[in-house]
Amino acid sequence: MNAPEDEVDRIEAATPAPRRSRQALVRWGQRVVTVGGDAPVRVQSMTNTDTVDAIGTAIQVKELAMAGSEMVRITVNTPEAAEAVPHIREQLDRMGIDVPLVGDFHYNGHRLLTEFPAMAQALSKYRINPGNVGKGDKKDRQFAMMVEAAVKHDKVVRIGVNWGSLDQELLAELMDRNGRRAQPWDAKQVMYQALVQSALTSAEYARELGLNPDNIIISCKVSGVQDLISVYRALARRCDYALHLGLTEAGMGTKGTVASATSLGVLLQEGIGDTIRVSLTPQPGEARTQEVVVAMEILQSLGLRSFNPSVTACPGCGRTTSTTFQELAKQIDDFLRAQMPVWKARYPGVENMKVAVMGCIVNGPGESKHADIGISLPGTGEAPAAPVFIDGQKAMTLRGEGIAAEFHRIVEDYIEKRFGSATAAH
Ligand code: SF4
Repeated sequence: MNAPEDEVDRIEAATPAPRRSRQALVRWGQRVVTVGGDAPVRVQSMTNTDTVDAIGTAIQVKELAMAGSEMVRITVNTPEAAEAVPHIREQLDRMGIDVPLVGDFHYNGHRLLTEFPAMAQALSKYRINPGNVGKGDKKDRQFAMMVEAAVKHDKVVRIGVNWGSLDQELLAELMDRNGRRAQPWDAKQVMYQALVQSALTSAEYARELGLNPDNIIISCKVSGVQDLISVYRALARRCDYALHLGLTEAGMGTKGTVASATSLGVLLQEGIGDTIRVSLTPQPGEARTQEVVVAMEILQSLGLRSFNPSVTACPGCGRTTSTTFQELAKQIDDFLRAQMPVWKARYPGVENMKVAVMGCIVNGPGESKHADIGISLPGTGEAPAAPVFIDGQKAMTLRGEGIAAEFHRIVEDYIEKRFGSATAAH
């Protein structure tokens, strides 16, 4: 049955149109992480170790960096933590980990950044929360001390507003002003305004103090999905600073993952966001690196970046009575991820590879043909044979007990042949 010609509209690919922001350079040694402009959206994370424990913190930073985090933030909350920062940096340099470190400051950042110049130098970026720099007439002075340290050491600053620590004096002033309106706004809109205004007036003041506008990154984090979308759309309209995106206190497990993916997905699709962090609460026993894995998956599923070969697997249904294909999909996915730290260098381009592991004949062959390499396992009642498709063509059929091991080997051979030659050619 053919659709009438005039009912078939041309369907455009939904490629995000990037918002053109200023470009910040976050540096450590030879490593330069560009944020904003035409740079890819960057992945960030944060440690949860006690910064005073320099070895423990360096190990976690290394794990996060190895998982794919391109900048790692650490808490700098006490003089002891400030003392530890250069040692953490040294440990990382010794381990060959050049990921830039970001210092997170609240309440006493002005003193720490002034009194511990080695710490101020070892960090590549400072996160300043305008709601936590001081009250009354101290506020501007203490904010200025932090910005002056950034200017002196030539560091990037993230002005990171958070609704849990919003500048209460500003909020009260905006609430008062709202009360005098003929038709007062909804309280939530005043809160949005306070978040955006706090970030942008702080950025303006930082520029007056001599901070290069390219060295300013802005964030306004909230914990509600709709609130985050509203606030960042407003921010993106009002400024051209690079934006750090994240749902704060996203929560645990599935809830935190889905809430982050939903909110960040909407904004990234609109071209809003130059760096992201997924603020997951680790479940007991879960690795801290999970937040990096989720952030990378969000970017990869939107087609914005490629980090790992992707494995397409069907959900299974009544046509599959065994878990063979689920196990094979998981094994292949785990195997590909585990190899990536080495393969990144050995097989350039392997991160774009698509593998399909399917459960039966209904969608198996079709989906496998769309992948670079795919296998369609036999469903219930089907002949015990698993056709393998390579580059869209049926290449062989696997049978018997050893299907999983054989498919593993075929995938490895394919990678060596297709991507190994790229190394040889370069
Ligand atoms: S491919 Fe087959 S087993 Fe998988 S979901 Fe579709 S019908 Fe079910």
